[in-house]
Amino acid sequence: MSKTIAAIASGNAPGGIGVIRISGEDAIKIASLVFSPADGSSLLDLKGYRAKFGNIIIQGKKADNAVALVFRAPKSYTGEDVAELSIHGGMLALQNTLKAVFEAGAFPAQAGEFTKRAFLNGKIDLTQAESVAQIISAQGEAELRASFNALQGVLSNEINDVLEKLLDMSALMAAWVDYPDEEIPELSDTELEKTLEYAAGKLKKLLDNYDSGQTITCGVDTVIAGRPNAGKSSLMNMLSKTEKSIVTHIEGTTRDIVEDSVRLGDIVLHLKDTAGLRTSEDYVEAIGIEKAYKAIENAQLILAVFDSSQSLSKDDFDLIEKCRGKTAVAVINKTDLEAKMEIKAVEDAFESVVYISAKNNEGIEELSQKVNEVLGVADFDSNAPLLANLRQKQNCERAYESICEALNSVNMGMTFDAINVMIDSAADELLSLTGRKATTEVVNNIFSKFCVGK
Ligand code: GDP
Repeated sequence: MSKTIAAIASGNAPGGIGVIRISGEDAIKIASLVFSPADGSSLLDLKGYRAKFGNIIIQGKKADNAVALVFRAPKSYTGEDVAELSIHGGMLALQNTLKAVFEAGAFPAQAGEFTKRAFLNGKIDLTQAESVAQIISAQGEAELRASFNALQGVLSNEINDVLEKLLDMSALMAAWVDYPDEEIPELSDTELEKTLEYAAGKLKKLLDNYDSGQTITCGVDTVIAGRPNAGKSSLMNMLSKTEKSIVTHIEGTTRDIVEDSVRLGDIVLHLKDTAGLRTSEDYVEAIGIEKAYKAIENAQLILAVFDSSQSLSKDDFDLIEKCRGKTAVAVINKTDLEAKMEIKAVEDAFESVVYISAKNNEGIEELSQKVNEVLGVADFDSNAPLLANLRQKQNCERAYESICEALNSVNMGMTFDAINVMIDSAADELLSLTGRKATTEVVNNIFSKFCVGK
């Protein structure tokens, strides 16, 4: 029997309402010691999925108004008895009530312990548990959609479909090898190949989508680069819709790197607005420029900004060179002014060019489209099953390799029991992926990354 746990489930900031969640065998009893229904009834008699209005009672005195919600095992998030107390969401009010809940017999929940219990009680599998953490941290629309799909079992269903086919085949092969005298129909090589190719195809598709998925879910480290006054800070402001970067007409004011995360269409850009790129005598500015070049080197995406109202300078040509072979979009700014720039030189150097006026907020849609194209996520389907992290990818990769090995072995005419070893090893990886066979270490590691209360 596991102990009853409690935590603030609504986060660590004040809000209109705050929720304390209690889960475990004594959850409802403990809730009834700190909450008194206004109608004089007892929480102990309340059926699952029911709520009562009443008061939080601390040391015999009413401390707050509250609504208590009761879930009865196994029909709850964790699969255990759960009580949730919704009170006014001030941090002191929440902490006082939580303290009273602990004094009534609950233990502090560890990070992710509610979701871990949901997993251990078979309510969700590991990929679904991981999607819960992702939903909480999601910043972009596509990430949120993809995580919610995973919670609904889109990835689990895909993996389980492949797994069932492998397990059925493995069982048939084992039976045929182990009971040669029984009348078990022999599996033909063609049938075997067909199943293995089906499994390999499905896993390969998941692996192929992984990088786009990561771009969508983790965001993209992006550098805004360009010579002073090209409009980098204005572009950053246009993207972040705040006045975070200092915009001025005196060259060289952005001396260090300014950072911000913004949503551009479906994806999140982790932006770095860098010092203007030019040869400088100023010591501090030179350090900033050095940093800017480093940031360009390491960026996943460069937004190279050019001022269309000026001729290209040596600094512009230097930037063009720095961007060669990199994932970059040339952002030609100040289209509201008369064009003086040699546009062809930029169009020849960059695969992707977009025209904007940061001043007039024009061109953001086009920029979004170009960014999606260069990042290879323009056709990303956030409803398709998606591997969410490296752990899932590695399991999938190893399963795929074992299946490819099995396919080769069929072609080489190896025996069924030898091939079956490879199929079993692929199945093991898929069982680890969804958590049906994951080690305690893997499970603990996953839930340690959650926040307390989830
Ligand atoms: P940075 O040095 O590259 O960061 O350039 P800023 O964003 O500070 O912009 C330099 C100057 O150009 C400022 O006076 C801006 O108001 C102006 N500017 C920026 N974008 C545009 C634009 O699209 N059109 C016009 N006309 N001026 C712009």
